[in-house]
Amino acid sequence: MSDEKVYILPCSGIGKVFGSIGREAAYIVVDELAKDKTKLECLPLVVKGKKEIIETLKANKVIVIDGCPMRCSYNDITEAVGKVDAQFMSTDIVKERRDLKPEKQIIPMGENAKKLSLILAEKIASKVNELLEENRGGDE
Ligand code: SF4
Repeated sequence: MSDEKVYILPCSGIGKVFGSIGREAAYIVVDELAKDKTKLECLPLVVKGKKEIIETLKANKVIVIDGCPMRCSYNDITEAVGKVDAQFMSTDIVKERRDLKPEKQIIPMGENAKKLSLILAEKIASKVNELLEENRGGDE
C-alpha cells in the first residue's frame, strides 16, 4: 500500500506568475506535504505520447494543476490518458485570497505568491489523501 502514488502534473506556465504558483505548489506537495504519497510527472512527455508514462497514469490517480483557464494540463492529460482524478487552478486560489495579491516577478518568488503556493499545496495534499482513501475503499 505504501508504494501507492498519486501523480501530480502541473502545467508549464513559463513566464507567468500563476503558472509558477501552480508549479511551486506541486513541489511543496511532492517534497513536503505528501512526500511518500505523490510523484511528479512531466507533462511534455505525456504530450509526446511516452507509452510507459501514459500507462502508469491510467493505472493511478492523477491530479492536474493549471495556471489559467486554458487548462493545458487538464486538456492534455484528458486527451492522452482519458481521465484526471482531480484538477486545480492557481487562479482559483488567487480569487479566494484577494488579500494576497501575487507579485509580478517570478524569480525570486514574492512573499504573497509563496503564501498562495502553500495554500494551494495544502488543498492538493488533502485531495491526495482523499484519492488514496478511495483507492483503499475500492480494494476491499
Ligand atoms: S494553463 Fe495557462 S499558464 Fe498553464 S501552460 Fe497553459 S496557458 Fe500557460
